[in-house]
Amino acid sequence: MRGIGAVPSYVVMQPTTLCNLDCTYCYLPLRADDRRMPVSVANAVAGPVNDWARDGRFSLVWHGGEPLAAGREHLAALLAPFDSGVEHHVQTNATLIDDAWCEFFAAHQIRVSVSVDGPRERNGDRVTRGGRPSYDRIMAGVGALRRNGIGFSALCVVSRPAPGLATELYDYFLDLGCDVLGINIEEMEGVNTRTNAHPAAAVSGFWAELVTAWRRDPRIHLREVEWSLRYAAAVLDGVEDEVLPRHLDPIPTIGYDGSVVLLSPELAGFSDPNYGDFTSGNVLETPLPDILSTAAETPWVAEFLAGVEACRSRCPYFGFCGGGHAANRYFEHGRFDGTETNHCRNSKIRLLEGVLDHAREHEPSAA
Ligand code: SF4
Repeated sequence: MRGIGAVPSYVVMQPTTLCNLDCTYCYLPLRADDRRMPVSVANAVAGPVNDWARDGRFSLVWHGGEPLAAGREHLAALLAPFDSGVEHHVQTNATLIDDAWCEFFAAHQIRVSVSVDGPRERNGDRVTRGGRPSYDRIMAGVGALRRNGIGFSALCVVSRPAPGLATELYDYFLDLGCDVLGINIEEMEGVNTRTNAHPAAAVSGFWAELVTAWRRDPRIHLREVEWSLRYAAAVLDGVEDEVLPRHLDPIPTIGYDGSVVLLSPELAGFSDPNYGDFTSGNVLETPLPDILSTAAETPWVAEFLAGVEACRSRCPYFGFCGGGHAANRYFEHGRFDGTETNHCRNSKIRLLEGVLDHAREHEPSAA
């Protein structure tokens, strides 16, 4: 895997910067402001996205702020320029979901991913603008999805990995009824400056325990565990060099104003005296394919690619990880050409170690 691909596998769209919640660990800088994406931005993105979708599966991920805070009417206007072959996803806090939203999801074939951190007492960081718990509102939204037969994924943030937590969470999400689960160990990025340094044993123990819980009842696609098992199987088959894509996925994030931030949506809305505002162009001025074809000319991107090469030469986990995480490098090191971060330790290195620890503990004993 070298350099940045010219065609992304998905594009992230920010229909509004606003979020109706104010979660303690949120990285978004403009979440109190309602800056809405004009339809002209969606029109500019739709041309290349419709072309890419004709060549194969292609996704748009609507991610705010809280994307539903843009309202159904405005979101419908933003969706309109895209052909029916484009897959739409929303990442939502679920608090605004009701029957009318469910009808909207069904009519536009939108796949829904809900942010929820487990049982009520695990959601203390997910609060309203007035600082009140949001759990009942999240559950009301999930209830509407279930009542209307809308399948959904879940995304869970874990702030402090500890023994017993993985089993509790997995059992909770089995009951919740999601079909896919992603687990993010909290990241120190954006305006969230809480530390994400944890003892190695606590993190690898968390992942190992999660595999044990999942294997007892593997009804949910468990994103991180499935990545790890795919890599482990490739190593056993001697084809681990084929796991990573040939190029880094550029993952363009289209900000509300049409500005494009590559590789890490978490950099959108920030600026730095050394790197400027991290954007590589604006779709209202330059076609998205042209922005992608000159990606490596953005100064921070060039520095980041040097960091990826440093990972390749130094890190034994590179074949699994691919050395991404631009925003984590920046927010943890203040620059892009460093290698290990607490984030990659938590979410790549300890993940693979935890899955392998589980395998070692459960391998059949030698006769
Ligand atoms: S695990 Fe960390 S150090 Fe290793 S390749 Fe990934 S980002 Fe680089």
